Amino acid sequence: MIVALAGGVGGAKLADGLYAELPANSLTVVVNTADDFTLHGLHISPDLDTVMYTLAGVANPETGWGVDKDTFSGLDMLGRYGAPDWFRLGDRDLVTHILRSTALREGSSLTEVTARLGQALGIQAALLPMCDEQVQTIVQTPDGELGFQEYFVHRQCRDQVLGVHFEGLEQASLSDAVRSAISQCEAVIICPSNPIVSVGPILGVPGLRECLLNARVPVIAVSPIIAGQAVKGPAARMLEGLGKQVSVVGVAAEYKELAPVLVIDEDDRDLAGEVAAAGSTPVVAPILMKTPEDRRSLARRVLDIVREVRINNGMSVEDQDSRAEMHA
Ligand code: GDP
Ligand code: CA
Repeated sequence: MIVALAGGVGGAKLADGLYAELPANSLTVVVNTADDFTLHGLHISPDLDTVMYTLAGVANPETGWGVDKDTFSGLDMLGRYGAPDWFRLGDRDLVTHILRSTALREGSSLTEVTARLGQALGIQAALLPMCDEQVQTIVQTPDGELGFQEYFVHRQCRDQVLGVHFEGLEQASLSDAVRSAISQCEAVIICPSNPIVSVGPILGVPGLRECLLNARVPVIAVSPIIAGQAVKGPAARMLEGLGKQVSVVGVAAEYKELAPVLVIDEDDRDLAGEVAAAGSTPVVAPILMKTPEDRRSLARRVLDIVREVRINNGMSVEDQDSRAEMHA
């Protein structure tokens, strides 16, 4: 089993490629929930939904988030009532939030309700929230502190980022589901998600880093930064605002304690030496995913790297097979 750590749109693309390349029920995606928030009394988990809709094959291919061909009658009505309508909620998407919120109110954990929703959509992979407790990303800007969706969606990332913190993260705990997935997996893939606000909170769940290091499995990260820029979203500006290097070298520095392999784009080949000096083993590959085939070929490449690392780490093919059987 392979564990992927993912945020929303960027992470979902590689998770989708892995899902297509791996046998059924051999992928677990641990998803950031620090973006979760409550709106109209509903618990919204943007990153979980993006990954869920993507793996279920119902994501909007243009935006990468939301449900394909969704309608917005509910949102129009919210607007007529004068309710906030800056967060785009489609009619089908709303149903997910209604069901999730109801289940949470009735006492289910986020882990349980996420599993039920994913199964109902026919997903043959495990989707796990990074934790069951509520965590909130807060962005410090010159105008004060903003909730993540306020910064990201309402104000469209226009504010300068002075700092980021995650309320509730220190009180959160590793769920049994995440712990057992990591301790039983063959490798962990850090998807090309925002290192600060998507992967950062996942790695910050108390006990997760330790669990990952104890698992002694290959950790392979794919850079979300190509040629000094984010493919989409505020990752580059966030790294810059936080005084970090806006390049694959900065990404390597974020993940270095996990000593992962960092897959970087061909455009960043000349930075391979600096990535190695920052503590990650660089592998150069095309990492821009524009088409479904791009997702699959990057996933194949990443799975090849997993095999190579396992062989170099001295795990014989028999070890790998017996381990795979053990956890099948
Ligand atoms: P969000 O929660 O929807 O913002 O999604 P993520 O955090 O998962 O993904 C955002 C990150 O994905 C950004 O930093 C992008 O640069 C990165 N990203 C998006 N598409 C691609 C791609 O095709 N290749 C790579 N390498 N990174 C990508
Ligand atoms: Ca997100």
